Amino acid sequence: MRKKLVVGNWKMNLTSSEGAALVEAIRAGLAIANHSEVGVCPPFLSIAAAKNAASNSAIRIGAQDVFWMTKGAFTGSISTSMLQAAGVEMCIVGHSETRGKFGKLEVSPSTVSYFGETDETVNLKLKALLYASITPILCVGETLAEREAGQTDTVIATQLEGGLAGIEADELDTLVIAYEPVWAIGTGKTCDTPEAERVCRMIRDWVAANRSTELSLVVRVLYGGSVKSANAKELFREPNIDGGLVGGASLDAAEFCTIIAAAN
Ligand code: PEP
Repeated sequence: MRKKLVVGNWKMNLTSSEGAALVEAIRAGLAIANHSEVGVCPPFLSIAAAKNAASNSAIRIGAQDVFWMTKGAFTGSISTSMLQAAGVEMCIVGHSETRGKFGKLEVSPSTVSYFGETDETVNLKLKALLYASITPILCVGETLAEREAGQTDTVIATQLEGGLAGIEADELDTLVIAYEPVWAIGTGKTCDTPEAERVCRMIRDWVAANRSTELSLVVRVLYGGSVKSANAKELFREPNIDGGLVGGASLDAAEFCTIIAAAN
């Protein structure tokens, strides 16, 4: 039986003190009989304060990104050993915003490409995280144009192939995969439940066919894209949706706690 997992992606929001206050509020709002795993991924600078506020609670602290090299001349980058030292237990990899596929473009396409990581860099980050025993949350998902061209399943299979290249089934038992349709992130548009379940099932089948049946039964597949208290219960009831990666709604303690309760 897979344990449900609900992770908040704070993106570029909240200073250290604001982050600590949010963790305190989530702690206070968590049901005593909470059966789900809960994580929050603050910006790097707020990790220490959030970790401190989460001590002796069920809330695990994650990061939003990592660089794969161990140390050196990589200005602005953060390594797995830095994350480990800060007590980080999970890390998002390949989010559509770091892949450069912003749902809503507010900068020119030439600027967006600077954020663009490839399946190859996602793969390097995943390997570094697994080596450091930090749970990777691999994000996959199609843009609106790709969906409209009927390419959803192929795009996701390509992201899985590239992201997981050279990593064997027995190295992947902590892996979490998040299906995040790019057109549903931060837009208020949720993928309808049957379709979200279909794609999550397709991801699980891909794992069975390309790694192992055993891994496909334990790997957790989350849905992300405008998850909120109003739709969480319906999504999390599906057999192949093991919880959610929650952006905007994770910044409000009451809303986030209701989403967590929906997973219980
Ligand atoms: C996300 O950032 O991963 C996300 C799903 O955002 P939102 O819930 O705001 O759509």
